[in-house]
Parts: sequence; C-alpha cells; structure tokens
Amino acid sequence: MNANKPEILIAGGGIGGLAAALALAHKGMRSQVFEKAPEFGEIGFGLQLGPNAHHMLTRLGIAEAVEQTAVFPNALIEIDALTDRELTRINTGDAFRKHFRGPYMVVHRRDLHGALLDACRAHAEITLHTSKQLVRFEDRGASILAHFADGATCSGTVLIGADGLNSCVRENVMGDGPPRVSGHVTYRGVVPVDEIKDKSHFDDMVIWVGPGLHLVQYRLRGGTVMNNVATLDSPRFAAGQKINFGGPEELLEVYSHTTPHVQEMLSYVGKDKNWVLCDREPRPEWSRGNVTLLGDAAHPTLQYLAQGAVMALEDAVVLAEKLAAAGADIPAALLSYRDARYLRTARVQLTSRIHGQIMHARGGARDLRNHLMSLRNPDNFSEVEWLYRGI
Ligand SMILES: Cc1cc2nc3c(=O)[nH]c(=O)nc-3n(C[C@H](O)[C@H](O)[C@H](O)COP(=O)(O)OP(=O)(O)OC[C@H]3O[C@@H](n4cnc5c(N)ncnc54)[C@H](O)[C@@H]3O)c2cc1C
Repeated sequence: MNANKPEILIAGGGIGGLAAALALAHKGMRSQVFEKAPEFGEIGFGLQLGPNAHHMLTRLGIAEAVEQTAVFPNALIEIDALTDRELTRINTGDAFRKHFRGPYMVVHRRDLHGALLDACRAHAEITLHTSKQLVRFEDRGASILAHFADGATCSGTVLIGADGLNSCVRENVMGDGPPRVSGHVTYRGVVPVDEIKDKSHFDDMVIWVGPGLHLVQYRLRGGTVMNNVATLDSPRFAAGQKINFGGPEELLEVYSHTTPHVQEMLSYVGKDKNWVLCDREPRPEWSRGNVTLLGDAAHPTLQYLAQGAVMALEDAVVLAEKLAAAGADIPAALLSYRDARYLRTARVQLTSRIHGQIMHARGGARDLRNHLMSLRNPDNFSEVEWLYRGI
C-alpha cells in the first residue's frame, strides 16, 4: 500500500459518507463506501442549506446539480404560534447572497443525496457497496481490517465512520454509549402545494414558535411540494416517562392552543411516524490512529440551526484536504482534521440546544424573546456571521 495513496474505507453512505468519498476523489484518493441498507437513499423530506453549505457544494462540484430543484426563500421568518404575529426575519435576497457569497437554499434530501451519488458513481476512484453493515474493525496500526455483518472483510489504510447517530465506529473509538435523548419529538409531512389553503408565506422559510413547540414550513422541488415539520417538547418525557412519549395525542395536546393557521399546517404532517431527537455533548476524541468520525457520528446535533448535514459536508471537504496534505503521517492528518472541526461543530451542537429553548419558551421567557426579536434588523446578519460565512 502506498502511504500517499491510502485506501480509504468509509462506513455509511448518507450525505456525510458520500460527500467524503467525493471530496477524497477530487484529491485523487481512492475510497470504498460501505452502506448497510440494500440501496443508497435518503428519507423523503426537506433540508435547509445555509450559504456555508453552498460553498461546500461548489467545492464538491455539485452546486449546479443541487440548484436545479432547490428553492431559494426570500426570508427566514419566525412567527408566534399563539398569535400569528411576525417576530423577526432575516432577508435572504441579494444583499444576503452577496454578503455570504452564496444563497440560502432548501432542498429535498433525495435531491442532495442523489446529486452526491451521481457524482460518486462518475468517479473511478470511488467504489460503492450496499448491504454492507460494518460490525467491527481491527486496528492493526498501519492498516484497518473491517468486518461486515455478512461475514465479509476488507482491508484499508484509513477508516472513516460516517455511520450516523448510532455509529458503530464511534462505539469502538470513543465507547461513550448511546446518544442523549432530548425529549423533543418531530413529525413530518410533504404535500403538493395545491393542498395548502393559506399561501401567505409561500416564498419564505417560516418557523412558528410556541410554548414547547415549533413548526417549520418551506417549499421544495422547484416549489411544487410543501415540507412541514412539527416538533414538540414532550411533557410526558419531562415528567419522567422515558419510553412511549411524544405520541400523536401528545402532539395535538401541545399544539391545541395554536392559531387556526398553525392547526392547518399541523394537519399536513403524518401522525403515524415520528422521530425522537437526540444529540451528544461535544467531545474531541474522534480521531484515533488511522480511524476517524464524520457528520452525525462525530457531533450529532438537534436540528434547530438546520446545520447537521451542512457540518457533514464541511467535515468531508476539510478531511480530504488534511489527508491529501498528510504524506505518510495519517494519524497526524486525522488529528489535524479533528482540530479544525471540533470547536465549530461544538458551537453548532450547543447553540442548537439554546435555539430550541428560545423557540419553545413559555411565560416571561416568551415575552422577552418576542421583545428582543422585534428589535432585530432583518438586513443585519451579524448573529449568523460565524455560521454562514463558512470555513
Ligand atoms: C427533523 C430533522 C431535520 C433536520 N434538518 C436539517 C436541515 O435543515 N439542515 C441540515 O443541515 N441538517 C438537518 N438535519 C440533520 C441531518 O439530517 C443530519 O445531520 C445528516 O443527515 C447527517 O448525515 P450523516 O451522513 O452524518 O449521517 P446519516 O444521514 O445518519 O447517514 C448514516 C448512513 O450510514 C449508514 N449506516 C449506519 N450504520 C452503519 C454501519 N454499521 N455500516 C454501514 N452503514 C451504516 C446508514 O444507513 C446511513 O445511510 C435534520 C435532522 C432532523 C432529525
């Protein structure tokens, strides 16, 4: 094996794993992606991508492909779910684009994942495998032997764990147990725009915020479908019920004081499936020897800054740069990648939690939030400068 041309094994073919393979291929490095599912794919809902994501998509060579079906909202708006009063907005038009050298986009997950997959398939340096679940690996110093659920093995120089929230690679590298359950639960639904009665915010990304809840709405796929995401802070979880919480009856109970407009949007989310939201405390031990983590495996976050997938894209680009510059010292390159990413992703993880508290505020905290938000200037971007300026 040539140390300058390491054979890189990537566990997980989600947005992070495919972006890593693509970024490495752009640097002339070979990789193999092992996805446990029988097919590569993504769930059928939306993703917000700040301008820092656009910078990464440009570097990965897929910005144009993603833009084809993306929607570019005019503004990011927060509205009080109990009164329908607008609290604050960030205008995302020309001044915003110019300031951050890129647009704010919202995309269908399958469109982003599909663009990554198409680009990966076009690179000879990338080999894609499905139905290959990593179950363990042996760290042999200069090489890694990966073991899969079907009994197969594969040897490489580097192992990247891009295997998501319940990462098998993380368990081996860090051994820090399951992620933290937040008690927040999300319901989602995508419906044709013809079904939406109130079209007042069709061109924006809107969040309705209320006590223990928030609901996000934006259009996808050239504006043809509406993505609706309703989140609640489960009262049963808060009262100590750690299983079977956040069911549809709790969703309706928590949203029962919201306006008819919010109730209408709530009718568009599916009630038969929900997602219990989890994250982790930031911890820096993601890189050990020739093994490292990326995306949700490294720094899972609540979605309240809409940056989990974006951080995975940033990770991918930085990791490829560090490995390409590494020479023979791969462990040093992986530590340098970790150093470049740790505090930025930690800030996203912890700020996301705070955003959740602010959105779900009650009583006096809600009054103060509403007052402070009313003072904001929609064309002043200083609060999001650290995030959207990118890396
Ligand atoms: C409700 C909600 C809304 C969100 N909204 C946004 C948003 O607007 N913007 C944003 O940027 N982010 C958002 N996120 C976060 C985003 O979805 C994640 O951060 C992102 O998908 C993480 O990508 P990943 O590739 O690291 O992990 P994953 O998407 O979890 O991919 C991991 C892949 O690894 C595979 N895998 C798992 N274990 C193994 C194994 N042992 N062997 C092989 N393969 C394995 C899985 O099948 C999967 O394909 C949101 C999250 C939620 C829950």
